[in-house]
Amino acid sequence: MNGSNGDTETVRDVVIVGSGVAGLSAAVYAARADLEPLVLEGPEPGGQLTLTTDVENYLGFPEGVGGMELIQRGKEQAERFGAEFSHGTVERTTLDERPFELELSSGDVLRTRALIVATGASARLVGAENEDELMGYGLSTCATCDGAFHRGDDVLVIGGGDSAMEEALFLTKFADSVTVVHRRDELRASEVMARRARDNETIDFRWNTELLEIHGSQEAGVTGATLVSHPDGHPTEKLEVGDEVEREGVAVGGIFYGVGHVPNTDFLADTAVKLDASDHLRTLEGRTTETAVPGVFGAGDVADPEYRQAITAAGTGSMAALDAEAWLDERAADGRSADTAEALADD
Ligand code: NAP
Repeated sequence: MNGSNGDTETVRDVVIVGSGVAGLSAAVYAARADLEPLVLEGPEPGGQLTLTTDVENYLGFPEGVGGMELIQRGKEQAERFGAEFSHGTVERTTLDERPFELELSSGDVLRTRALIVATGASARLVGAENEDELMGYGLSTCATCDGAFHRGDDVLVIGGGDSAMEEALFLTKFADSVTVVHRRDELRASEVMARRARDNETIDFRWNTELLEIHGSQEAGVTGATLVSHPDGHPTEKLEVGDEVEREGVAVGGIFYGVGHVPNTDFLADTAVKLDASDHLRTLEGRTTETAVPGVFGAGDVADPEYRQAITAAGTGSMAALDAEAWLDERAADGRSADTAEALADD
């Protein structure tokens, strides 16, 4: 029997942590399997797609689809089959007892037989001086959220991947000039995105260059930056060895980071779930979403250091729900409960 959020007496069959495309896809599948999943939406409900503009490579949308729209429709679809959504954020998990316990930031504790981790990844920071102070005051990790504040500004976009190209292209709607600052002399972005950015006359590139310091204040916003460059790239690494690195001050009104993402796995610290060197959740070898802890499944960007596409996240979300359903069924068929400490020793 499933219980309501925060009820420690009852035990859920499946809790899905994360409400991006992977979590939603898992919710649709788990709900259609009558597992009455609870989706904990987390601190960034809807995940990375809510911060993007059009998604052009999601199968079935030849004209593209808005990231926010895709997420809203996915949530409606999951709710239609009975998935429940809650604003909860998991702070800590206890996975060495069954059922598993999830401690939420509200103080509530949830208990569940199976757990699907679909917590995605959050924007990476570069570590420039004054970054913490100016985040949200002219420094941003989301052009679609904050671009409109920079009408008529000169802005910098940091990074050389698809995210940076997308941010730069979006910012051309508002900014007078957009300069992409990349630490090497070659983009990582896909050919189509790189071409679009190169062909746009409002976008310039600074190669072999990094952001060292951000100038400004919370009152005045971002007013400029110190850039460092070196002909061999990765200039900040060369600062320490005293190699010849050029410094330059530039006046800009906004800075946008597009330097990738880090997986959200902090809440799994001190559990037996294994992480890789970049803190992605490690699933078992083969085509599976199982983790080192039986009954815990991983889906989407949190477990994917390689593909990180909306469509692959949706795919692994459905796989995680199918794997969770099969795991619960197997245990029921064995007569083993997913609710006891002995059950854990059996695994
Ligand atoms: P990414 O491909 O990992 O690119 C990150 C970029 O930031 C790289 O160019 C990297 O430089 C640079 N970088 C990383 N850390 C840095 C630091 N500390 N200082 C300066 N630069 C740093 O990440 P992404 O662009 O977010 O893309 C992630 C995935 O999502 C990709 O698979 C991408 O195709 C997909 N995506 C697709 C679209 C689209 O199709 N419209 C849009 C967004 C994202 P190096 O190149 O030197 O490593």
